[in-house]
Amino acid sequence: MKNMMQWEKLILDTVQLGGTLIFLKDLANDAVAAHVSVIQNLRESRIPFVVRSEKDFLSGAFRSRPEDLVLVMPTQVPLLTSLNAAMQGQRICLTAEAAGPSSLFLDGLWTFCDLSAWSEVVGNVCATLDSAEALPQWQGSQQAPCLFLDRDDVVVKNVPYNKNPELVELMPGIADLIHRAHGAGYWVALVTNQSGLGRGWITWDEYQKVHQQMLRLLAEKGCWLDECVWAGFYEKEPVPAGEQLASLRKPRGGMFQQVQDKLKVNLATSVMVGDSATDLIAAHGVGVAKLYLFNSEKISEEKSKISEFQKANPSLQYAVVANFSEVIV
Ligand SMILES: [Mg+2]
Repeated sequence: MKNMMQWEKLILDTVQLGGTLIFLKDLANDAVAAHVSVIQNLRESRIPFVVRSEKDFLSGAFRSRPEDLVLVMPTQVPLLTSLNAAMQGQRICLTAEAAGPSSLFLDGLWTFCDLSAWSEVVGNVCATLDSAEALPQWQGSQQAPCLFLDRDDVVVKNVPYNKNPELVELMPGIADLIHRAHGAGYWVALVTNQSGLGRGWITWDEYQKVHQQMLRLLAEKGCWLDECVWAGFYEKEPVPAGEQLASLRKPRGGMFQQVQDKLKVNLATSVMVGDSATDLIAAHGVGVAKLYLFNSEKISEEKSKISEFQKANPSLQYAVVANFSEVIV
């Protein structure tokens, strides 16, 4: 009974945290099938699960998340050391085909559930889920605002699809703005579209070298970025499904949401500084209220794109700045 409660809690936590039950398929002896079939028969059960091969797991081709629960069979015990190396602390649970030892705790949480109890465990979890409320999202009571910065022509001078670190040059005044923001209690985050990655025009190594050079130059001025997010997706390029997150690309708000998820920033009091209409539209879409358009060469084109957007979205209001000292944080 004690074990059954442990199992129920583990599965309930996994579902409520947004995780997935991952059954590790043992190719030599498909012992997971019986356990999987119980959940499959309860398809409407709201318990998300996937079955993945040992090979995909161990090679890193399939990556699980910290909130997932990985279920392994007794025959897979020899793999546990390799599994631990392939994951980053996910909870692993050992199932049993027959009643096993009462409980065991090593490195992660280990527990046992025999197949005869499995149906009951899953059924109880489903019944609980039907009445359970969603877990409250963790939110600090003092959520700090964030200064969101575009990269090209905001943090560094724009060199289209730059792959040469020697060409990286900070924009005048950006270090002072970052200093002021940190001094005022803001997080500072970079949110940058980098379609060159998705188009295959820049390799990851090249992108990283340019990025590191930007960070080095900022460090020389005694400032830093708390978080950096980039969107490699590009609509007009065929990319392998799942490899690039389309929702990250501005004017969609995915990068802001990633920063918000991690740093728990208060978007309503946050600030966006960009040089493109898409920067401001993305920030506005996620609820950033203070928007600044930096006066670059393309400003008239960008202003007209914003005017077009404002026809249907008059709540988007912004200020044009020719110098970062005009940004109020
Ligand atoms: Mg830009």
